[in-house]
Amino acid sequence: MPQLEASLELDFQSESYKDAYSRINAIVIEGEQEAFDNYNRLAEMLPDQRDELHKLAKMEQRHMKGFMACGKNLSVIPDMGFAQKFFAKLHENFKVAAAEGKVVTCLLIQSLIIECFAIAAYNIYIPVADAFARKITEGVVRDEYLHRNFGEEWLKANFEASKAELEDANRQNLPLVWQMLNEVADDARELGMERESLVEDFMIAYGEALENIGFTTREIMRMSAYGLAAV
Ligand code: FE
Ligand code: FE
Repeated sequence: MPQLEASLELDFQSESYKDAYSRINAIVIEGEQEAFDNYNRLAEMLPDQRDELHKLAKMEQRHMKGFMACGKNLSVIPDMGFAQKFFAKLHENFKVAAAEGKVVTCLLIQSLIIECFAIAAYNIYIPVADAFARKITEGVVRDEYLHRNFGEEWLKANFEASKAELEDANRQNLPLVWQMLNEVADDARELGMERESLVEDFMIAYGEALENIGFTTREIMRMSAYGLAAV
């Protein structure tokens, strides 16, 4: 079992592990904060689903607190400045789309891209996490599937009207995912997570979502790898 070997080699108290953790932990905390803000913003945009979206936002806030505890448990101070820069472009794209009332783009950014990014990262992290963080992350990742499902269901119900905007938003935002994954590749490896596995798991999670929404296999292949060759 290679995963087990990898986790035995990790020294959670080493300076190099804690240094990488200060950025990865910050990214995760910031990601949950972004998700909290985004679902609250979506609640304003979709008044019919307000209660449900507020519920999702509250879950994200709980996730954030859980991951803050993970950093504290390892005596790591998260580098929040780094994490805010890391999310800046995606954050800006969501903000612009929300201001323009583009619900479809906002759902693609939050419920598809950010949730699938989280699902991939948390699933790859769980086998190599310390015992405390593993337990928390296992609980969190279950919620992230529910959040992705919210976006899937809405977009599926509005598929024909959303399709063109989804493809457009995909072209605009998916290349950012590959950039972000590259940016954290070295720190992720220090924690026992390989970039290739993260890319694979993201594409699987994102492809599943596109399939559930109603895209054809050909469209999924084209969309889920968009911009990957360029990085
Ligand atoms: Fe979350
Ligand atoms: Fe989520």
